[in-house]
Amino acid sequence: MKCHECGGNYKTTQTNFRIKSKTVGNITVPNIKLEECKKCGNQLLDDVASLKVSEHVRSKETEALGRQPISDFIDAQETVKILEITKQALSKNPRIQRRFILARKLGKYNFYLKDSVLKYKESGDGRILLESGDGKYAIKGETFKLLQSCGNLQKNKILSFARKSKTSGITAGSGSLETPSEELLEN
Ligand SMILES: [Zn+2]
Repeated sequence: MKCHECGGNYKTTQTNFRIKSKTVGNITVPNIKLEECKKCGNQLLDDVASLKVSEHVRSKETEALGRQPISDFIDAQETVKILEITKQALSKNPRIQRRFILARKLGKYNFYLKDSVLKYKESGDGRILLESGDGKYAIKGETFKLLQSCGNLQKNKILSFARKSKTSGITAGSGSLETPSEELLEN
């Protein structure tokens, strides 16, 4: 398979994969097997690798949410009041299900991060940065799209990433998948 960015050859490699989460910043996912273009650094992840990345990011986000003071969270009742929607709409809304509002479960109930609810109301995207991640991998100009929910991974769908050079960072890949909770820096 030739690289669609530059026509170079891919090489299978096992490496740390870097990704930016809107919630916890830069994350390094260790030991991801991927195809990397020897010429331009474009990276391809298969289903297995994508799932591994997605699960890793998700667990980091869940851990970070668990470290937020419980007093920063509100219950569903207060959340629907702020959003002016019904409880059913809250639980069925696909964007909310896809974690555009940061929430955590306590017992069998969901609690929503109040700042996230307010931001969601304002912009439709309640994801806020809770922690800055491991920082050292901040790369400008990255765009990365990964399926938000592990369950939505489509068979044989390959996510593609382009990394032009160390100075220009990662540029847009060909991933045309739905915007996830994970997204690399856009500028
Ligand atoms: Zn290439």
